[in-house]
Amino acid sequence: MLKPVDLNPEDLGDLGQIIPGRDPELQIRIPRIPVSELDLQSRIIPVCEPTLNGNEAQYVLDCIESNWISSAGKYIPRFEEVFAEICGTRYAVACANGTVALHLALATLGIGPGDEVILPTFTMIATINAITYTGATPVLVDSEPLTWNMDLNQVADKITPRTRAVIPVHTYGHPVDMDPLMEMAEHHGFYVVEDAAEAHGAEYKGRRAGSLGHAGCFSFYANKIITTGEGGMVTTDDPEIARLAAHLRDHAFSEERHFWHKYLGFNYRMTNLQAAVGLAQTEQMEAFVEARRANAARYTTALRNIPGIVTPPEADWAKNVFWMYSILVEDEFGMTRDQLRAYLAGHGIETRTFFIPMHLQPIYYQAFKGQRYPVSEMLCQRGFYLPSASSLTPREIEYIVETVRQAHQQRGNR
Ligand SMILES: *Cc1c(COP(=O)(O)O)cnc(C)c1O
Repeated sequence: MLKPVDLNPEDLGDLGQIIPGRDPELQIRIPRIPVSELDLQSRIIPVCEPTLNGNEAQYVLDCIESNWISSAGKYIPRFEEVFAEICGTRYAVACANGTVALHLALATLGIGPGDEVILPTFTMIATINAITYTGATPVLVDSEPLTWNMDLNQVADKITPRTRAVIPVHTYGHPVDMDPLMEMAEHHGFYVVEDAAEAHGAEYKGRRAGSLGHAGCFSFYANKIITTGEGGMVTTDDPEIARLAAHLRDHAFSEERHFWHKYLGFNYRMTNLQAAVGLAQTEQMEAFVEARRANAARYTTALRNIPGIVTPPEADWAKNVFWMYSILVEDEFGMTRDQLRAYLAGHGIETRTFFIPMHLQPIYYQAFKGQRYPVSEMLCQRGFYLPSASSLTPREIEYIVETVRQAHQQRGNR
C-alpha cells in the first residue's frame, strides 16, 4: 500500500514556523439589533462561493431532458467556442479539471522524462503535480515582490539545454509579465504553458490570460471565477496543439480503426452537464470579473490606511481579476496573520492562508532540499485572502474591513 511522505513542520527547522497550523474555528454571529443588519450578523461570510443564478439550471435541465449527459452533446463545443472567444484564442479544449488541463497540455507538447519544466515554487500543488505526472523534472523559481508572480530573472538563470517548458502562474488573478518570458522562449526554444486557473478575464497589455503563451490552462472548480463544478480548459492558437489535445483527452482513439491507439491517451473528458453550467457561466463572466474588481477597489480603499496591511498588487500593464483578494500582514499591524485570521473567524469571516511553497511540501521536500525562496516563504508566512466571491456585497466588505480595523485597535490587549 502507498505510504504518505511524512514531514513535520519541526523537521524544517526555523522554516517550520512559516507553515500555517489548523484553520481557526468559525463562529456564527449571534443575531443582534439593528434588525436591518440581521442577515449580515447571522451568517458566515465564506471565503468564496459560486453564483449560479443565470441559465445554469435551464441548460442542465435541457441536457437531462434531451438525454445527453455524457461527453458528447452540444454544450461542449458551444462552451469551447465561447470560452475561446472570451480568451481571444482560436481554440479551446474542454476537459475534466484544471489539473488535467495542465497535464494534457504538457503531454500534447511531448514533455516527458529527461525534460525540465520551470515553475514558481509559490503555486498550488496541481501545477507541479502535472509536471511530475509526465515524468519531467520540475525546476523551481521564487516569486518577485512586486506582483508575487514568478521571478523572470531566476527563470533566465535556470534555463538549461533540457528546459522544454516554463509554466507561468497568474497568481491570484494577476498576470505574469509575459513579453520577456516569450522572448526567452523564442530564443531558447521552449514552450510556455500558462497556468491561468485563477485568471479568467485577466489581461496583460490588453491581451487576455490564456492567449499569451503556446497554451493556456484554466480550472472551473467551484471557487474559480467561473465554474462547472469540476472542469478545465486548454486554450491555444495552434491548430495542432488543439487537435492533439482533443485527441489525447479522449483515449486517443485513432481515426482509421476503432480501438486502435497510437498515443498514450487519457479519459480527461468534460461532460455535457458540466459544459451546460459552463456556458451559462460564460454569459455572466464579464460581470463576475467587474464585480471582483469593484470589490477589490472597495477593499483596497478602505484597508489602505490600516497600518501593516499590504493590499494586493496591480502593475500598470496588468488587469488583475482578483480571483482572491489577497493581503499581507506585516509586523506593524501588531498581530500576526494567524491571530488576525482567528479574530476574523470569531466574527464569522472565513479566510484562507496563501499557498505553502512547493519546496516545503512533504512530497517534494527531498527533491528541493536546501533550496530557499525567500519571497515565497515571506508570502506563505504573511499572506491570506479575505472573502472574495463575486457576490460579495459592499456592506459585507465594510463589515469585514471594520472587523480588521477592530482587530488592529485591540492588538495591545492581547
Ligand atoms: C485551482 C488551481 C489549479 C487546479 O485546478 P483544479 O480544477 O482544481 O484541478 C491549478 N493551478 C492553480 C494555480 C489553481 O489555482
